[in-house]
Amino acid sequence: MNIQELIRDIPDFPKPGIIFKDITPLLADAYALVYCADQLAGLCPAHVKIDKVIGIEARGFILGGMIAQRLNAGFIPVRKKGKLPSKVNSKSYGLEYGEDVLEIHKDAIKAGEHILIHDDVLATGGTAKAVCELVEELGGIVVQCNFIMELDFLNGKDRLQTTVASLLNY
Ligand code: AMP
Repeated sequence: MNIQELIRDIPDFPKPGIIFKDITPLLADAYALVYCADQLAGLCPAHVKIDKVIGIEARGFILGGMIAQRLNAGFIPVRKKGKLPSKVNSKSYGLEYGEDVLEIHKDAIKAGEHILIHDDVLATGGTAKAVCELVEELGGIVVQCNFIMELDFLNGKDRLQTTVASLLNY
């Protein structure tokens, strides 16, 4: 199935010069949603049992949860500053269009657990790198970062010291 047709380019959002990849048409298509979750879960290495899938706020929550269900893994939300209710570890990071802080609950990961990180888009890689660091600080092992799509021209992959997998490349 051609999921590319369901990803919409929105020029100059949220800032001039950024072409925003809008996945809401894909999420709204029942068949495409299940297809994407199946394909993303299928990108995971078969020889490692994933203990937990991390979804990055907010678009990473949707398919991240669906991937976790398919892998019989738990789900961990990594959220923007101030949203998680218990004790957190924080990390500031640079975005394609700004700066932000991400947080994870301190007790979300046990040492040695195998973690899959999911988000919708890999752009400069700053977000995913920050999440890898949060996982490693808690003693987790990042098995893969997976995305619906990678923006190859921003070379985000080069900033990540783990396997990167995605369904589409732009
Ligand atoms: P980065 O840290 O630069 O790799 O940016 C990745 C994060 O920002 C992801 O959570 C994406 O959802 C979001 N993002 C960055 N660039 C875009 C884009 N062009 N279209 C949609 N989302 C984007």
